[in-house]
Amino acid sequence: ATPMSIMIATGRGAQEGVLIKDAEALERFARVDTLIVDKTGTLTEGKPRLTDVVPVGGAEEMRLLKLAASLERGSEHPLAEAIVSGAQERGVDLGEVTDFEARTGKGVRGKAEGVSLALGNAAMMDDLGIDITPVADQVRSLRDAGKTVMFVVIDERLEGFVAVADRIKQTTAAAIKALHDNGLKIIMATGDNERTARAVATSLGIDEVRADVLPEGKKALVDELRAKGAVVAMAGDGVNDAPALAAADVGIAMGTGADVAMESAGLTLVKGDLNGIVRARRLAMATMRNIR
Ligand code: ADP
Ligand code: MG
Repeated sequence: ATPMSIMIATGRGAQEGVLIKDAEALERFARVDTLIVDKTGTLTEGKPRLTDVVPVGGAEEMRLLKLAASLERGSEHPLAEAIVSGAQERGVDLGEVTDFEARTGKGVRGKAEGVSLALGNAAMMDDLGIDITPVADQVRSLRDAGKTVMFVVIDERLEGFVAVADRIKQTTAAAIKALHDNGLKIIMATGDNERTARAVATSLGIDEVRADVLPEGKKALVDELRAKGAVVAMAGDGVNDAPALAAADVGIAMGTGADVAMESAGLTLVKGDLNGIVRARRLAMATMRNIR
């Protein structure tokens, strides 16, 4: 690659909202055959909204929501914001929380109003020894609608669950199609559960789904595919995604996300949608063609 053509490509990229770290990142991106995308914030808007509050065993709906939302005030996760705003929109006053603790990829714990609280996914319930089979059917139908379900535990008992839905970005479907046409295999990797992830992936025609993936798991997936000879790009927006972005042949930070993600990326998309990846891919291929 001549420094000149790379410089021109870098300039054009910037005009189109694609920041390119160095010549190598652009060269490698032309050779990529597999793209891993995070779900929340990458395929979806990353602004989930509270849709369901479901008490079990006689718990009271507003109290359930109040405790869940009070607890989530301590978290910066988009799911937490959905629960907090959902509660505020429903006129619920939030309380103080102590002993707050977040478990990455699983959920949160704390104490409020003299009770102990936990809120999170099935893996978190498993850690706590809470049986979720009594609500399995209800939860399954919410997940098949693409919703994310979080279980609410009060004083070590399952008292209900809440669900949030995150809209797929308007630009996602067309971008996925363009990337497919460009010869890329597309894999969704998400910390969300299998059913919710599949509902979203199927609607978009994504080739493969890896669900219930912890942040280390996204990096492990990158390593696994590279070991098999794939040239891998990974697109993500969060702090959680940083290890995988750094391990990929090309890390792609979705610009609206965390600074940590940007530091570990070869490409940064100023506007965080997948169209930036389509543009970057065309630019990379055109640049490499001109050089050869
Ligand atoms: P993604 O890969 O989709 O960005 P994360 O790894 O951030 O997802 O989170 C994975 C899962 O962990 C979520 O789908 C949710 O079930 C659970 N979780 C994470 N943070 C929280 C939180 N603050 N409150 C409740 N659940 C959470
Ligand atoms: Mg994410």
